[in-house]
Amino acid sequence: MHTEQNTDIPRPMSESAAPRTTRRRSWTRRDPGTRIDWRFWSQTFWAAITIWIGWEFWRFVHHFETAAAGNAAGRPPGAESFLPISGLMGLRNWIASGVLNHIHPAATIVLGLALLSSVLLKKSFCGWVCPIGFLSEAVGTAGRKVHRWKGLLPRSLDRTLRSIKYLLLAFFVWAIWFAMPARELALFIESPYNRVADIKMLHFFTRADSTTIWILLSLVALGFVVSGFWCRFLCPYGALTGLVSFLAPWKITRRAASCIDCDKCNRACPAHIPVAQLYRVRSDECNGCLACVAVCPSAEALELSLPRSRARLTARSMMIAVTALFVIGIGLAMTTGHWQNNITTDEYTRRIHEIDNPKYSHNRGQVPVYTPSD
Ligand code: SF4
Ligand code: SF4
Repeated sequence: MHTEQNTDIPRPMSESAAPRTTRRRSWTRRDPGTRIDWRFWSQTFWAAITIWIGWEFWRFVHHFETAAAGNAAGRPPGAESFLPISGLMGLRNWIASGVLNHIHPAATIVLGLALLSSVLLKKSFCGWVCPIGFLSEAVGTAGRKVHRWKGLLPRSLDRTLRSIKYLLLAFFVWAIWFAMPARELALFIESPYNRVADIKMLHFFTRADSTTIWILLSLVALGFVVSGFWCRFLCPYGALTGLVSFLAPWKITRRAASCIDCDKCNRACPAHIPVAQLYRVRSDECNGCLACVAVCPSAEALELSLPRSRARLTARSMMIAVTALFVIGIGLAMTTGHWQNNITTDEYTRRIHEIDNPKYSHNRGQVPVYTPSD
């Protein structure tokens, strides 16, 4: 799936034979936005919102679990962002029926926005919004400070490991899109299990057993050694955004005439993409982080731009574009009634009290047998 190559991309004659520029270029970046780490602040913004959502959702569930007095805290629908499978189910159901389901609508909205941002601006959801990506990067950065290793695995091993996330994605797409008839899918969305899938997801962390804790610690340890381990090798959500990002019109573009072949972009790229050997970065691993652009010493050599156009996006405009897309998208969903689910407080009271009942088990993807009164 990885389209860029380290060595076997032939340079067209026009570029490979082009003489290196002898005129001294401006060594000052034109983009004033690169003086501020706009991506860091974008990631921090979304991470802060995620922490707030997590806290509010925990308070909501805790209220019912402890039968606390008074009104429950409001349930933040944004918690459904962590239900990518529900999001994918909702997307298929929405396409098939023309109606967005009312159980986990926010999961589908967030998935749709992640796909839209990736279709337009490479994997910008992964690079500018996703809090898991932010955490993964932070762990990798801490690791590099300790062991000083960039984490570039041998090519064959890297490719083999990167295929895992695509295999996981293929399984989910097959199971949801092809193996499950549309009627069964609609039944599954309404099932008792799916109605509390967000609470089950919370319990995955709050009721973590030793196996879960060991798995999570192992992922952190692997990310400490190999930066971005989760995103690069395991995340099926990132595999999906990477695939659709091939369509993105905005891509990192290198102008050979301005490039001084300093190789700084290659060294800066966290995705190990050989930017200095490419004209347009089409890779499914490019998350539009603009680290390559930020380090490039030659004005106009490297830009996030449209094909055959001088239009370009700076880090600041990238941040504005991605933030606006999500804020406007979520705002529209809120104002049109496509954000909140329609599960009542009474229903949550009943279901959270009986959540250990077998009818709330996953049933290995099979549609559970249930009656409407369940
Ligand atoms: S450094 Fe450049 S090529 Fe590498 S992921 Fe970031 S934007 Fe893409
Ligand atoms: S950073 Fe990359 S694109 Fe910029 S001058 Fe150096 S090799 Fe060329």
